[in-house]
Amino acid sequence: VKYVYFFGDGKAEGKGDMKNLLGGKGANLAEMTSIGLPVPAGFTITTEVCTEFYKNNRQYPAELKREVEEKLKQVETLMGKKFGDRKNPLLVSVRSGARASMPGMMDTVLNLGLNDETVQGIIEQSGDPRFAYDSYRRFIQMYSDVVMEMDGDILEHLLEQKKEARGVELDTDLTADDLKDLVVKFKQKVKEELGRDFPENPEEQLWGAIGAVFGSWMNPRAITYRKLNNIPAEWGTAVNVQSMVYGNMGDDCATGVAFTRDPSTGENYFYGEYLVNAQGEDVVAGIRTPQPINKAKHKPGDLPAMEDVLPDCYAQLAKIRDILEKHYKDMQDIEFTIEKGKLYMLQTRNGKRTANAAVKIAVDMVKEGLIDDKEGVLRVEPSQLDQLLHPSLDPKAAKTVIAKGLPASPGAACGEVVFSADEAENAAKMGLKVILVRVETSPEDIHGMHAAQGILTARGGMTSHAAVVARGMGKCCVAGCGDIVVNYREQQFTAKGGVIIKKGDIITLDGSTGEVILGQVPTVQPELTGDFGQLMQWVDKYRKLKVRTNADTPQDAKVAREFGAEGIGLCRTEHMFFDADRIMAVREMILSEDVEGRKRALIKILPMQKSDFIGLFREMKGLPVTIRLLDPPLHEFLPQKDSEIDELAKVMNVTAQTLKNKVEFLHEFNPMLGHRGCRLGITFPEIYDMQVQGIMEAACELIKNEGFSIIPEIMIPLVGEVKELAILKANAVRVCDEVIARYGVKVEYLIGTMIELPRAALTADAIAKEAEFFSFGTNDLTQTTYGLSRDDAGKFLPFYVESEIYPNDPFVALDQAGVGQLVKMGCEKGRATRPNIKLGICGEHGGEPSSVIFCHHIGLDYVSCSPFRVPIARLAAAHAAL
Ligand code: PEP
Ligand code: MG
Repeated sequence: VKYVYFFGDGKAEGKGDMKNLLGGKGANLAEMTSIGLPVPAGFTITTEVCTEFYKNNRQYPAELKREVEEKLKQVETLMGKKFGDRKNPLLVSVRSGARASMPGMMDTVLNLGLNDETVQGIIEQSGDPRFAYDSYRRFIQMYSDVVMEMDGDILEHLLEQKKEARGVELDTDLTADDLKDLVVKFKQKVKEELGRDFPENPEEQLWGAIGAVFGSWMNPRAITYRKLNNIPAEWGTAVNVQSMVYGNMGDDCATGVAFTRDPSTGENYFYGEYLVNAQGEDVVAGIRTPQPINKAKHKPGDLPAMEDVLPDCYAQLAKIRDILEKHYKDMQDIEFTIEKGKLYMLQTRNGKRTANAAVKIAVDMVKEGLIDDKEGVLRVEPSQLDQLLHPSLDPKAAKTVIAKGLPASPGAACGEVVFSADEAENAAKMGLKVILVRVETSPEDIHGMHAAQGILTARGGMTSHAAVVARGMGKCCVAGCGDIVVNYREQQFTAKGGVIIKKGDIITLDGSTGEVILGQVPTVQPELTGDFGQLMQWVDKYRKLKVRTNADTPQDAKVAREFGAEGIGLCRTEHMFFDADRIMAVREMILSEDVEGRKRALIKILPMQKSDFIGLFREMKGLPVTIRLLDPPLHEFLPQKDSEIDELAKVMNVTAQTLKNKVEFLHEFNPMLGHRGCRLGITFPEIYDMQVQGIMEAACELIKNEGFSIIPEIMIPLVGEVKELAILKANAVRVCDEVIARYGVKVEYLIGTMIELPRAALTADAIAKEAEFFSFGTNDLTQTTYGLSRDDAGKFLPFYVESEIYPNDPFVALDQAGVGQLVKMGCEKGRATRPNIKLGICGEHGGEPSSVIFCHHIGLDYVSCSPFRVPIARLAAAHAAL
């Protein structure tokens, strides 16, 4: 096995498609080197070493040391410098780089190789003692923090003391002698704190840093990040060792971060930030406010753009931007450094972007001919669309803007202000919506950012930690809001005009404008035309699965149709029973002593049900509508309060005590497995008869009076035995035919069932003799296959997911290995009996991308999901088909 891959001077042992082995950063450094871009030479230690390191009790493979030495020699030869040399020393950076990018989650060491001797060489080579000692003191700070695990604040404090003593404000105001003195103090302090010397030997330094990078793979924030982003621990990280280039050697030096297109809007313009005379992490760390790269969007008062300050470098960088986009055919996120007027590329990767930007970039790149429309469809993650489908702030609403920052990640968020990640997490656990307000965020805050509705920071640019992480999470974020002053001690912040916002006060963030607004602001629905509409056209061209919606009201049906629903896959009629105008009649029906009593109540409900169905059919004109007959345990409709019982008793002309006894009698210990679903129809046929009558009368009236085409699909829930369906189907057909004859119109209708019990899946061949369609009710099927109560699982299921006993919450993503096999079997058996049987799914999984893809592969005809998830399901279906 080969453990170390060299890159430099136009030649690389690795390639861009070797991300699994070299990590994202390493693979792309190799690729950039091969296509002739200026990349400082270096080498990558593979992710396999990381995996073996952890497998073998933190021991490296035996050959590693020799390979590292060999590649280091190659770098030395190429650079004409020697690691540890006192005349012309090579200094290196050591960075992590996993397969998937994990921004800021793991450790980095810069300027490695410096000691009291090599610093002399750097002085000789650069002719700049101040620069040499500044690099040295930075190295000691980073190394003692990252590798030796000493509290970083300790040395930071010495630095602050020094500045105070010298009466200066900025690090850059310290002289070479100040910094030289600091180096001595730093080392003394390290010895004092840790009881051992700061390592002078460059080789020891190098192995220390490599070990720290591998070690950081298992640090708590990396573990949290992996969990949130479904990155397996087995992947491991690579280590990149690369010769240093310097952005901090003077005013002809700079360092920057850029995106080849705007990551927030997707606009095709070179978006980035840089700092003159700065090193590596300074831009991202948000310590100084960076300047723009491009002057296209320059406004008066903005800091000067790189295009004006360093025009030659800018021209070179702009050319590289083109080369990279044409090569990778995707928007790139790049890091670069300029050393004495010479440009070096330190990183490129596919840039993270907002959902808006993802759609715009995909559509633009298809139009520009960079990619085809299939690729365009694949460029947008289905789950990402969620961001686009949710409301944004109503532009017409009155609002009191109390501050303005950078529009770092779009969307609108509203909640109570909290000032720490832990508080955010605790509040969210109690069901509160919060906005996390920080001076700046660091990777330690990630759990709080996840829990918050939105994030507001006082410091940092568009590429600051807060901005990058929030965009990745699809969370609204306003960053670098200089208008606010955060006071953690007082748990408050001060905004423009001295407005004080205390912990618990409500604010609204607009991540698209950067506005911070007092109180709560109304929102509006998203725009579904333009680029989004174009993308969805391509989506519809390639997908095979139809997408319907679960909707119980005309309003939901309307929204879903605007989102592209091709019918209703599930109307839960019980939701209609809870409305204020009928709940009394429903209760009367349930609590009646006999058929006659029930029929009396049902006659009151019939006209209301009928008008519900008319509303739904109208919204879904020309499309199939599946209506499910009553499903939930009667138990759920029972009156609870004494006042409700008293009122009902009067209507029904019985005593309150009689009713109470009846309520008691109907109480069930395990209602989910009790008197529900088709069991209601079997024992109280008049209930289903009324519903079927309502459905068919609604259809007939519309057909007769409004010239409609409508094909009602009547669905019978919780069937486990074909005889149940045979009986209920015969009843339904009788009622349908009676209504049709009465209206004298022609109506086609289907009668089918839900497959939501394991026995139904196992006997689907028999059930298909009666059923004209199946709809897999994977909510109940998951519940009954796992023996996992939908209502009670919340107490332990999160623990199961967290400890990876289950890979996912099976109520969210379909369990393909178990429940999915029952669905697959149900399809096969159903089709064996009735080849043209219509097959769909209406459990929550119908809108979850991985489940939709599974449904495509087992050959369902359609998925059905909540209105807001319809576009997500359409896109997932297209991904499955491509
Ligand atoms: C199901 O069980 O998957 C289903 C759609 O029905 P409900 O969620 O109403 O039980
Ligand atoms: Mg169900």
